Amino acid sequence: MSKLLIVNAEQADALFGDGGWDAVVVVGNTDALDAHPEIQQLVAHASGVDARIGREPLMLLAPGLAGGRLVLAPTGDLEGEYEDVRRYAEAAQAGVGIALRAGARAPLLVIAGHDDLRYSQALEVALLGAGHEIYTPFDVAGPDVTLGVLGLEDAPRANALENGRIAARDLCGGDPEQMAPPAFADYCVELFADTPVSVSVIEDQDVLVRDYPLLSAVARASFAVDRHAPRVVRLEYTGEGVISRNWFLAGKGVTFDTGGADLKIGGAMAGMSRDKGGAAAVAGLMATLAQLKPKGIRVVAELGLVRNSIGSEAFVPDEIIESHAGVKVRIGNTDAEGRLVLADVLSHLRESVGECENPVMFSLATLTGHVGRAYGPYSAVIENAVARGQALGGQLQMVSEIWGEPFELSRLRREDFAQVAARSPSERLLSSNNGASVNISRGHQFPMAFLLQAAGLDRHGAGSDQPIAYMHLDIAASAVEKRDPLYGQPTAVPVATLLSNLLDH
Ligand SMILES: [Zn+2]
Repeated sequence: MSKLLIVNAEQADALFGDGGWDAVVVVGNTDALDAHPEIQQLVAHASGVDARIGREPLMLLAPGLAGGRLVLAPTGDLEGEYEDVRRYAEAAQAGVGIALRAGARAPLLVIAGHDDLRYSQALEVALLGAGHEIYTPFDVAGPDVTLGVLGLEDAPRANALENGRIAARDLCGGDPEQMAPPAFADYCVELFADTPVSVSVIEDQDVLVRDYPLLSAVARASFAVDRHAPRVVRLEYTGEGVISRNWFLAGKGVTFDTGGADLKIGGAMAGMSRDKGGAAAVAGLMATLAQLKPKGIRVVAELGLVRNSIGSEAFVPDEIIESHAGVKVRIGNTDAEGRLVLADVLSHLRESVGECENPVMFSLATLTGHVGRAYGPYSAVIENAVARGQALGGQLQMVSEIWGEPFELSRLRREDFAQVAARSPSERLLSSNNGASVNISRGHQFPMAFLLQAAGLDRHGAGSDQPIAYMHLDIAASAVEKRDPLYGQPTAVPVATLLSNLLDH
């Protein structure tokens, strides 16, 4: 692992080495850097001999500047109507990468902003890109880096966010043994020790089978192997003062997904240790809150940590199992296990809502291949009617856009309920058809119809005594970079979006 400290480089002469910086990394268009004529002058000279300047990220020898290094990381054209702030993240990632490989350990970021609203978080988003580049997995030795940023207004928040993202990447990225459910839970216990976030871990098999019956069905073939046995981790944060926001988050943490009896074949199993990105992101958000200690908010989270193993105890299609919410579910396909894990976890969160005002519930999951088929590398948010009535999905989408973690807004439709309707008098719901979601129309929308009903959230609709706004976030195509679950680095999406949604909007 590497350590990262983000610092507001406020010294007037930081550019010239005051503060100990050992490289200057300019992210963006140097034409916009009117406050730094010395940089513009160097760029003007270099442009005469190198046509790549302004087009590609590269390093110039700059004897007068900190560390003697000037890295230029152009964003490319920001004017295009379809461009977005990810340009800044990508440029910062490239620029910081060059600085680190050149030997810098204390690069100073200078962000050339842009006054278009879509770039309003350009500095923060550049930091996310830099943090992603600096991150090394917890089992790999990496450099300790201090990152200076000119004009950074809230360094404590930037550090808390990046530390949360580091935890999310660690938890999502660990291999099937390193981050099996007990190890994942242990990581959380350690992460939240001596913080205002309380942690409790359920590991007793009898309790799990009784209270999380669908989750335990998925885990059935793993109970016999202690180091693979399931866990439910519950995290709670209550800020000081009058509570005005109440959030409830369910995270899918399938630490390895063989598909179960509906085994993933033809090479489709590799990469399935990353099927825990939802739980990892929830833990990352809670880690950020643990550091920031914001007032007036309460957040309760449950992580369903399960290995979907195959073996003589494995659950199979056609089984009918009653969910924690008392709904009989016929298993359609054992590889559609994430919704089973989430349904019980959501049901427990539902019971935690109590009398609180305006509760907002989320499920976060790498749930379906379909979301990638439908949207490419984007995440999807799907609202229930209560959330839709408050336009919460649209707000989340807007926030995600300016934080460079873009979501598409999907809509739950009546056909989605038909997909999971009972096929016989013995059950009330069918978990899925017996095929891969990627091949079914509305494959990422209809699981929400299942989640709503199997978790008992359909009893909390707009006309009920206690309406609960609920949004399901499918991050199957965005939890790992380049949509490559095998070798891509975890992205920690959507920790930044959720944090901003919670604190700023
Ligand atoms: Zn699966």
